[in-house]
Amino acid sequence: MTNTTIELEELLMQRSLTDAQLLEAAEAATDFRILPDATVIKIGGQSIIDRGRAAVYPLMDEIVSARKEHKMLIGTGAGTRARHLYSIAAGLNLPAGVLSQLGDSVADQNAAMLGQLLAKHGISAVSGAGLSAVPLYLAEVNAVVFSGMPPYSLWMRPPAEGVIPPYRTDAGCFLVAEQFGCKAMIYVKDEDGLYTANPKTSKNATFIPKISVDEMKAQGLQDSILEFPMLDLLKVARHVRQVQVVNGLVPGNLTRALAGEHVGTIITAS
Ligand code: ADP
Ligand code: MG
Repeated sequence: MTNTTIELEELLMQRSLTDAQLLEAAEAATDFRILPDATVIKIGGQSIIDRGRAAVYPLMDEIVSARKEHKMLIGTGAGTRARHLYSIAAGLNLPAGVLSQLGDSVADQNAAMLGQLLAKHGISAVSGAGLSAVPLYLAEVNAVVFSGMPPYSLWMRPPAEGVIPPYRTDAGCFLVAEQFGCKAMIYVKDEDGLYTANPKTSKNATFIPKISVDEMKAQGLQDSILEFPMLDLLKVARHVRQVQVVNGLVPGNLTRALAGEHVGTIITAS
């Protein structure tokens, strides 16, 4: 055993698990990425999949041709059906943990549909992206579809107010990218990126090509194009230090983002 391992082991036996010296020793190991060549792509639920064929088919074509060059983990959003379920369940005063399970089932439905569309290209939907056969799928066909909702289920951390699960598919897909140490995280939605206000309701909203988490919060944009807890997850991330939001209704945008081009908005951790 190396000195650092011995030191860490001693600290772990003696100290609280949040002791400062222990945390520092636990950081000493060299950085390791599980799937460093893969990019996580989230296909929006409400913004893309709910629009059906007109929005989904062209994106599937882009994915099929992009996988010649890129390894992709394709996560699904939930969308309008989940919002409908949330409104009924919240009206019944059911807790966040139950709503989380309901949202999960909708993201699963979307993953099932994308999986069927991509089946003839050898791309499968997996139930649970937490490894299982994911590395094998990526090695063999460069792509896999997963359900974007994080599986907190009944153990969803309740929000400060209300019962809507705070960690939904934006967070679920980001956590997959971060824990696997992926190359990039791309959100495919229905606007060109982040604006100074919701472009669907504010005519004067202006486009923001690049912004940091702190700047977003300072401008009151923490609850806008991404779920609000996402910003805090991004800020403390070790591997994925920026995310890109692109308009999936514009053909070619996803391909350009995969190629590392600055399309849409880039949100940086610092
Ligand atoms: P998803 O389909 O991935 O769940 P959402 O519909 O939750 O995506 O989020 C995308 C939507 O966020 C956009 O369609 C837009 O109407 C809304 N939005 C709110 N505020 C902003 C903003 N400041 N800039 C861009 N979009 C915003
Ligand atoms: Mg959303």
